[in-house]
Amino acid sequence: MKGMRPLKSSSPHGKKHQPLTRECTVCRRDYTLTHDERRGNQRFCSRDCHRIVTSYKKGHRDFLLLTILQEGGSMTSHDLARITTKFWKSATQRSIGLIMKAWIGRGIISAVRTQPKRPYTYTFESDLYPGELIIKHCRKK
Ligand SMILES: [Zn+2]
Repeated sequence: MKGMRPLKSSSPHGKKHQPLTRECTVCRRDYTLTHDERRGNQRFCSRDCHRIVTSYKKGHRDFLLLTILQEGGSMTSHDLARITTKFWKSATQRSIGLIMKAWIGRGIISAVRTQPKRPYTYTFESDLYPGELIIKHCRKK
């Protein structure tokens, strides 16, 4: 419920940290990030919601790409490849272009090219969250 806060918030070290809440990408439930999770890429309220996304074919891979675009704004396949190679070794502009093509076809991503032969710039266009999009559009493993 929005606006409801626990009366007392105390951390083991006695320091007060402003709680940071996020909406879960799968079920939209608000959840609070722990201090350690703030800098990480926690996007799920629970292991169960994480498990839902990974139960879809290529679910986690597409989820990561959609999340990068949703949070990072417009990017080219070159930008996406540079970011994704940190966790996905075989990411190339070409492989990312193919994945984007599927999401463009679903109306979730738009692609514009400023000049001929330049890479497309991709923009996340959906009101749904990346986790919800995986559930809606991908097939179960
Ligand atoms: Zn959730």
